[in-house]
Amino acid sequence: MSNIINGLKVAEEIKKKLFSLASSLEKEMGVKPGLAVLRIGEDPGSQLYVQKKGFQANELGYHFEEHVFPSWVSTEILKAKIEELNQASYIHGIILQLPLPQHLDRFYFLSLIDPLKDVDGLHPINAGKLMQNVPGGFIACTPLGCLSLIQTIHDRLEGLNVGIVGTSILVGRPMAMLMLQQKCTIWMAHSKTKNLPSLCEMADILIVAIGRAGFIQGNWIRKGGTVIDIGINRLSSGLIVGDVEFEAAQKRAGAITPVPGGVGPMTVVSLLRNTLDSAYRYAGRPFPL
Ligand code: NAP
Repeated sequence: MSNIINGLKVAEEIKKKLFSLASSLEKEMGVKPGLAVLRIGEDPGSQLYVQKKGFQANELGYHFEEHVFPSWVSTEILKAKIEELNQASYIHGIILQLPLPQHLDRFYFLSLIDPLKDVDGLHPINAGKLMQNVPGGFIACTPLGCLSLIQTIHDRLEGLNVGIVGTSILVGRPMAMLMLQQKCTIWMAHSKTKNLPSLCEMADILIVAIGRAGFIQGNWIRKGGTVIDIGINRLSSGLIVGDVEFEAAQKRAGAITPVPGGVGPMTVVSLLRNTLDSAYRYAGRPFPL
């Protein structure tokens, strides 16, 4: 039996549920989930990611709008657009596509988004709720998607040793808080961590987000462990690979995500899930997922 975790398949199953929930919300309450994306500059990666988000939002019957600004956009203009979207009753989710050009402070702009519409879960209030284990906030999309994948493999997470390599605010940190909520024992590693191979060998679940092709070697993986590879790296050949040396790791792992086709589709689906959750809250209905 294959030990590859098929993120595309898991994402498709969740999308079917979202489609049906979005249709009933619109039919019964007249609320169509609305997602707005702010994209600044012409970064080709960002263009592609936003296209994917828009395509899938439309597939599920959501309203989707993209606001594109030149890289030299001023703080005032961007702030005014965020405030306008905060007020728009037909918009339930707002995301600021990262990275931003250097002259724009992402923390400042993220903090301008209404926390009730912060479906990327990056506003300090939502990040703080996750940190303090307070329910009701939005959880960052990639960690949320990874947790869904992990739950397809592990019925019980309590007490498992979970290693997280990479400590970004987008991925590593919220991932750690989410696994701590599940009563896992967690460790985190970064560029100054010592003895990473022996740490990795302890991990029942190893989650990697560093952005270095094949950095985690196959022989560091615990036998039978679960490997979640978040990294996306484009080789000079054009091939997209993860942060884990896939073929060698697959031989030792009990389950492993491929790149592409593992975590990526789950990130988009988690964004669509958070947006629908926000629309349900707006309609005063409990979100059934
Ligand atoms: P980031 O902000 O650049 O953070 C990278 C992290 O990796 C930092 O904590 C850094 O440590 C750590 N790191 C770098 N070199 C290391 C080393 N040699 N050993 C151990 N840790 C090391 O990156 P990010 O935004 O989290 O993204 C990471 C990767 O995930 C990228 O490839 C990105 O494209 C991918 N990604 C994928 C998805 C998806 O949906 N699949 C979503 C988001 C990101 P220091 O803090 O010490 O520098």
